[in-house]
Amino acid sequence: MLQGCTAWPEDVARRYRQQGFWSDITLNDMLRQSAVARPDSIALVHGTRRMSYAQLVNAIDRLAGRLIELGFKPLDRVVFQLPNSIDFVIALFALLRIGVIPVLALPAHRREEISHIFAHTKATGYFVAEQWRGFDYRALAAEISGLAPSLRSVLVLGAPGPGQISLSDLLERDGGAPAEALATFAPAPDEVALMLLSGGTTGLPKLIPRTHNDYVYNCRQSGTVAGFNNTGTVFLALLPMAHNYTLGCPGVLGALAHGGTAVIAPDTTIETVAQLVEAERVSVISAAVPLIVNWLNANRPQHRDFSSLRVMMNGGAKLAPELRRRVELRFGCTFQESFGTGEGLLNMTRRDDPAEIRFTSSGRPISPADEIRVVDEQGNDVPDGAVGELICRGPYTVRSYYNAPEKDRAAFTSDGFYRMGDMVRRIDGNLYVEGRLKDIINRGGEKISCEEVENLILSHPKIKNVCVVAMPDETFGEKACAFVIPVDGATIDLDEIKTFLLGCNIAKFKLPERLAVVQQFPISPAGKILRRELRQVAAGKVAGAHA
Ligand code: AMP
Repeated sequence: MLQGCTAWPEDVARRYRQQGFWSDITLNDMLRQSAVARPDSIALVHGTRRMSYAQLVNAIDRLAGRLIELGFKPLDRVVFQLPNSIDFVIALFALLRIGVIPVLALPAHRREEISHIFAHTKATGYFVAEQWRGFDYRALAAEISGLAPSLRSVLVLGAPGPGQISLSDLLERDGGAPAEALATFAPAPDEVALMLLSGGTTGLPKLIPRTHNDYVYNCRQSGTVAGFNNTGTVFLALLPMAHNYTLGCPGVLGALAHGGTAVIAPDTTIETVAQLVEAERVSVISAAVPLIVNWLNANRPQHRDFSSLRVMMNGGAKLAPELRRRVELRFGCTFQESFGTGEGLLNMTRRDDPAEIRFTSSGRPISPADEIRVVDEQGNDVPDGAVGELICRGPYTVRSYYNAPEKDRAAFTSDGFYRMGDMVRRIDGNLYVEGRLKDIINRGGEKISCEEVENLILSHPKIKNVCVVAMPDETFGEKACAFVIPVDGATIDLDEIKTFLLGCNIAKFKLPERLAVVQQFPISPAGKILRRELRQVAAGKVAGAHA
């Protein structure tokens, strides 16, 4: 296994194989099995572009050949920052095919996050789009080229900048590497396939190494629980495919694993969603709190036919019971809650659970091999019904981060359980998320590390101290509120902080959306800032603002 990652213990790995959780194939094999079974079925749709399974695997092989010619080698890392598109899928699989490890950055990430990922992975390649939503990634790539000595090749979808390579040209060029050449590059199924970014608490994102074996199982099993089957699953991808949720839970890869079609939406408005559901006969949508809140508040386009829709899933943050009930009524489908993490464990409500469970619980593990415990601060199991921290291990939950032994010590127990940092109750096998142990803000599924933003705000010359906490928000669930103590005599407002943070080149979703200037923080007898009190103040402010 790639150096810097921890493999599952041998006896555990043997058991996962024997019991069929690991099928010892690569993600590329998984796709090919669908392609052999149904070469002419449509695998991907985006706008007017439609691609069959046979066309998809051909395009992947051609690009894989080109990437070998460019000098990419197995276990090289590539920072992968493409927006949702068919070319995203082709490029991702071309890398997987030859054992190069894509590190999935979000389109929202900027210089701070991307340079951190390069420093951490020593990636040799950077895949970007020319531009997207008004941002020019070629300029970012040029900047990164100056900062990251490991970076050799920048591949641009669209027109490349000076010294950059056109990924679009490579995709169009005929003729690929011979099958034998590709075969020699094929990775082992227990090797790291890709790296996801954690929505972690401690500063910049940690890297989660997912193997072929574990991720194949992740995609297939979550697809099975979502009711994906070989008779026409049509999945609608709305959120960034670089997120674990839309990539493989079950997501686009789950749809492909089950021989279905993944339709990529150009935007997330209810009009677009309704039009695509009708035109493509969409059966499953993976959504998130802010999208669902907006859709429920918009008028559902009455003339559209939603009869194909079976499942509307919510993931990334909890959806309130009343809204879940309204989803079922409004869209005539089954609501499915998905509570999971990029580190592995996925919990889902089942489609045939009684309404009470579907509407209130956070689901239960998707695999019989998932081991979960709900523990107190000493690591002892709490009784059913009591709140404790959720810890887990299993056939698709990683045993370490990439190259981060110190972070591993905090995040994993000595017997290999991952500490999710979520406070939950377990009742009759179902989990109920009650809160969090970690200082993290969940903005409709996007995670904001309080520590990271605080560190940046502290570098502002007018700021003496800062504490960033979550405040409730009707659409996003939570947003960031910054409490600041200015240096003596200074005045500061939200716009100044926002402009300053944008200048720090971080993703925009991390910016505080409310600023409270205070003279001191509430402090515990032990000298710690009482974040809980500040959260209450922030919540009160919001209530006040609505009054
Ligand atoms: P990430 O690894 O970025 O996907 O974030 C995982 C975290 O998101 C979990 O540990 C939870 O805190 C939160 N989360 C994800 N889905 C849900 C959900 N359905 N309900 C409550 N929290 C969720």
